[in-house]
Amino acid sequence: MLQWLYYVVILLLATCVRAQDKPIALIGTILLPDESINNGTLLIVDGYIRAVGASISIPNDAIILHTNGVILPGLIDLHNHLTWNIFPRWKPSEEFGSRYDWQQKPIFKILLESPHRGLVEAGLSCEMQRYAEVKAITQGATSVIGSLRRPCNRGLARNLDDDPTLGQILYNVYPLQMTDMKLKEANDVLSSNGTLFIHIAEGSPNDATAAREFLILKARDLLRPGVSIIHGVALKENDFRAMANASVGLIWSLRSNLELYGDTTNIEAALENHVITAIAPDWNPTGSDGLLAELNYAAIWNSGLEHSLVDDRLLLEMATINPAKLVHLEKRLGTLKEGYLADVLVLQQNNNQSKLNPYWAATHSIPEDVLLVLIDGKAVYGNPEMMKELVDSTKLESLEICGIEKSISFASQNGPQPSFRQTQQLLKNALRHWGRTLAPLSECGY
Ligand SMILES: [Zn+2]
Repeated sequence: MLQWLYYVVILLLATCVRAQDKPIALIGTILLPDESINNGTLLIVDGYIRAVGASISIPNDAIILHTNGVILPGLIDLHNHLTWNIFPRWKPSEEFGSRYDWQQKPIFKILLESPHRGLVEAGLSCEMQRYAEVKAITQGATSVIGSLRRPCNRGLARNLDDDPTLGQILYNVYPLQMTDMKLKEANDVLSSNGTLFIHIAEGSPNDATAAREFLILKARDLLRPGVSIIHGVALKENDFRAMANASVGLIWSLRSNLELYGDTTNIEAALENHVITAIAPDWNPTGSDGLLAELNYAAIWNSGLEHSLVDDRLLLEMATINPAKLVHLEKRLGTLKEGYLADVLVLQQNNNQSKLNPYWAATHSIPEDVLLVLIDGKAVYGNPEMMKELVDSTKLESLEICGIEKSISFASQNGPQPSFRQTQQLLKNALRHWGRTLAPLSECGY
């Protein structure tokens, strides 16, 4: 009953706040799945996309923004461990066989596990999550997974695994650790159109322990629609065929795989077998700072292959349409389309290559290039000039990304909010006790 009341209050609050917003018309190069529209308009009303196209009528009271940029759907991150993203990059001096190897190393415990537990026990988990969400947003993500459950406030980003309006999305369950009760819960969720994201076969391609997890998944009857496998580095061609036959998806975390195991998922086999594949950063210590960085990383990795496996358009699909499909939200997120939730990213279009091929901009932009991020039609982050057009300037806080000033707004959150600077300071002070420093929002010029 209390939970039901909570949902009603959240929905009512969201509706009341939205009703006060003016329509927003963003003008720029619009990226659609099959075409781009130069000088197109994206019209947003009450948190939803009302119209998109080359010539649409704009209401008289709309705020019109000529972005001179590329307008695309907000990126969707389906593999992260947000509270760990306060830690700077971890550079292990060896490659590991599987996740069970590095999780037992003293160096992992000293650098990551103990300080993480210490900060959580000190009651800072919501601050850790807040920092990570801002970080994700500065990297173009509007939806994230791997968030903490309440009591943290609803996050600045869309928390896919903790948002009652989006259906049931289970995350981060290890098949070996699933009790019968957890298994029943997972099956109930899957039977009612929910989804399950599960770490499977994380290790080097020939690691037997990692490969065995896929057999356990099958034995537990979890090779079924609604399930997506995170990592799958040790999976073989036959496994991808079985996944495709069972409509099981894949989440690919290239950089983290390469840094920990020296190799990555057989993405060629996954694509050949038409496994719906999304790309995601995993976590900052060994993965990317966020989705823009992971897309860059994948594009560069691909260009070094003898035979190219992906192109810019496919990589963008892996961060938008495909993850939306995997969480069963493809009719609400992941595309700029009338009636969809207005989660939008605007990137600078600052060189000839991005003008010739605007999809290139999506896979080669750096955080400095992010002009604007809207979540639920609300401006949460971007260049100060654009943010001032959309948010009361007293509600803006400035922050710096690689020497470039940006603005952030927590105005979409309920109740009084601490400043982001306060959050940073709290975390810095707490990390000092553990001999650690706070990770930068962005690794500049990697
Ligand atoms: Zn993970």
